[in-house]
Amino acid sequence: MPAHGTNWSGTVTFAARQVHQPASVDELQDLVAATPRIRALGTAHSFSHVADTTHDLVSVTGLPPVVDVDPGTSTVTVAAGVRYGAVAQAVHEHGFALANMGSLPHISVGGACSTGTHGSGVRNANLASSVRAVQLVTADGELVTLSRDADPDRFPGAVVALGALGVVVALTLDLVPTFDVRQVVYRDLPADQLTSGRLEEVLRSAYSLSLFTRWRSTDVEQVWVKQRVGGSPGEEPDGLPDDADAPFPTTWHGARLADGPLHPLPSMPPENCTEQGGRPGPFHERLPHFRMEFTPSSGDEIQTEYLVPAEHGAPALAAVATLRERIAPVLHVSEIRTVAADDLWLSPSYARDSVAIHFTFHKDPDGVAALLPDLERVLAPFAPRPHWGKVFGTDPAEVRAQYPRADDFRRLAAEMDPDGKFRNDFLDRYLPVL
Ligand SMILES: Cc1cc2nc3c(=O)[nH]c(=O)nc-3n(C[C@H](O)[C@H](O)[C@H](O)COP(=O)(O)OP(=O)(O)OC[C@H]3O[C@@H](n4cnc5c(N)ncnc54)[C@H](O)[C@@H]3O)c2cc1C
Repeated sequence: MPAHGTNWSGTVTFAARQVHQPASVDELQDLVAATPRIRALGTAHSFSHVADTTHDLVSVTGLPPVVDVDPGTSTVTVAAGVRYGAVAQAVHEHGFALANMGSLPHISVGGACSTGTHGSGVRNANLASSVRAVQLVTADGELVTLSRDADPDRFPGAVVALGALGVVVALTLDLVPTFDVRQVVYRDLPADQLTSGRLEEVLRSAYSLSLFTRWRSTDVEQVWVKQRVGGSPGEEPDGLPDDADAPFPTTWHGARLADGPLHPLPSMPPENCTEQGGRPGPFHERLPHFRMEFTPSSGDEIQTEYLVPAEHGAPALAAVATLRERIAPVLHVSEIRTVAADDLWLSPSYARDSVAIHFTFHKDPDGVAALLPDLERVLAPFAPRPHWGKVFGTDPAEVRAQYPRADDFRRLAAEMDPDGKFRNDFLDRYLPVL
């Protein structure tokens, strides 16, 4: 009974001989213990072959959907297969919030953290940075908990782990008091704001900020501004109101305030997106771009993303711009975001504040494959780290060279999974056994 024959966009057909969907942790433990080679699967939203295997897959989405808020420690413990949207709603009802969210609420917590999924904000690290503990079924079927406090030597290798250490069944996440966000969209940010010294000023203007460009004109077509009501440490509104009642200016950094809701993809309905227009609303109804009840993005797509150190943001974007005529025909839209540094060994933002340069391409595998070598060539001087869950072609040795703790991760994987039960071609290629 395959739960997923393909990934979400249908661009990866899993080669697995079987997809299991256990309904309890006990059942999962027995399955893992008895199966020679097996990989975990979340909500299958990755575009790379990171989840794929020619052996067995096990989806965690059938496990009981635990969401257990602990007000005493300001944490929530969630089953790995639960979607971020469900977690956010539950914690909000208890007066708490997640510090940040990705562009869509549909992804599983376990799968998103395993690949280093991020939202935006110069002070916001990726979603995995909120993890305080992970509970996983290891190769022998045992349940093991690793926590930030009790296992400081292994924990930083065990959160963004690409499924290499075991099947995560639960994660404990740090919470913050709930907060409201106002979202507005500005149109046509002049090109010089992107490649000049003003990029940093623009990017740090709001709690979370995204720039969307199709590389067709020289301007950034949309700027999504998500401002935390009441402000937040480090936020420098730079011309935007810091009072929830004050209107947003009609022009800002040369861009003009949109006069109605927009979708980042002009061909898609804005109703699929979270509310814009500046009215305050709960964090989870503004931080993601897409609403839980609608299809996010386009669906007809392949995604690619590279994270570069923040100081390389403007020159890296200028380098990408030299390929605009090659990029535009295969692209729906690009998104530029920021991610704060963290300490998780395989995180694409490990130890460096980053600018993330994302591409939502058409579902045109040949067109994307023809472009990627040139895109990666122009980005190479800027120490790019590809998003593990998106499509890339970077040479494995070059990928590893960007991760100072890659060998520590490989040792941890060998220690926790000595027989390679959780390995697949993707891991063998990018993080081979030492
Ligand atoms: C429309 C769309 C928008 C997106 N937006 C963003 C964004 O804003 N920011 C961003 O950074 N990324 C984004 N992504 C990428 C996405 O967040 C990642 O690919 C993420 O890993 C998907 O989570 P998933 O549950 O679907 O994981 P899957 O694709 O199911 O799995 C990904 C990896 O995690 C492992 N894994 C999954 N569950 C477990 C588990 N329980 N235990 C151990 N390992 C596990 C798998 O083995 C695999 O290696 C987007 C993707 C889509 C389709």
